[in-house]
Amino acid sequence: MNILYDPALDGPLTQHDKAKVLAHLTAMLPSLTLLHREEDLHPFECDGLAAYRVMPMLVALPECVEQVAALLRECHALGVPVVTRGAGTGLSGGALPLEQGVLLVMSRMARILEIDPDARIARLEPGVRNLAISEAAAPYGLYYAPDPSSQIACSIGGNVAENAGGVHCLKYGLTVHNLLKLEVLTIEGEPMTLGADSLDAAGLDMLALFTGSEGMLGVVTEVTVRLLPKPETARY
Ligand SMILES: Cc1cc2nc3c(=O)[nH]c(=O)nc-3n(C[C@H](O)[C@H](O)[C@H](O)COP(=O)(O)OP(=O)(O)OC[C@H]3O[C@@H](n4cnc5c(N)ncnc54)[C@H](O)[C@@H]3O)c2cc1C
Repeated sequence: MNILYDPALDGPLTQHDKAKVLAHLTAMLPSLTLLHREEDLHPFECDGLAAYRVMPMLVALPECVEQVAALLRECHALGVPVVTRGAGTGLSGGALPLEQGVLLVMSRMARILEIDPDARIARLEPGVRNLAISEAAAPYGLYYAPDPSSQIACSIGGNVAENAGGVHCLKYGLTVHNLLKLEVLTIEGEPMTLGADSLDAAGLDMLALFTGSEGMLGVVTEVTVRLLPKPETARY
């Protein structure tokens, strides 16, 4: 998510700048996992579009929404850009880091918060794998329809940001057609709720605007999706 960029940081970042940012973030967020050694950063230098590689300045691995909000606030105050990453399977380079930025990796926030079989909804942290949603819903005879071929690995947060689809989408629509609500944080760390627990939320359709915006409008911290009944039979 390359929303905020301080021209003062333009040009090669020195070890001194990086050390200062690291020291500040460590002091302000002692419980947040921050990776900074070159060998730890290498796995994050590209997403599925491996032709483009950039070493991030720092990688943050938050485990809760409070850590994400605090990190965004601090980076905003420092003028450090932030790129969000889910599972890193994207093929459009959306999770490509910035050399002078923090890569915010959401994969540790991967809890299924709620499956409500009566309302046919699931409430999820953004790092939940796409396939894990249908696996969790299966005991209730339900499943989550959008099924990108990468579903064993890709995350629901990344699915929202890419408006991902798969073969089921020919009949059941893309991610945007199977969402009810998003909890998001702006780049300043302010929380926002888009959509509602039921269909046809009042007001502008910000949920649709946000879906497919490739992480440019904010960070998804919670996703409520619709579940469908599994078909009684399937023919091949
Ligand atoms: C083998 C393979 C098969 C694929 N098949 C399909 C397919 O059938 N259909 C399809 O649509 N795609 C497919 N993809 C592409 C990819 O898997 C999808 O785009 C998927 O949605 C990316 O999810 P991710 O968690 O890996 O996101 P990432 O690659 O980590 O990120 C993708 C984008 O989402 C943003 N993002 C991630 N998490 C968040 C968050 N919490 N908040 C805000 N922004 C966020 C990132 O900034 C980036 O812009 C395939 C990829 C591979 C490698």
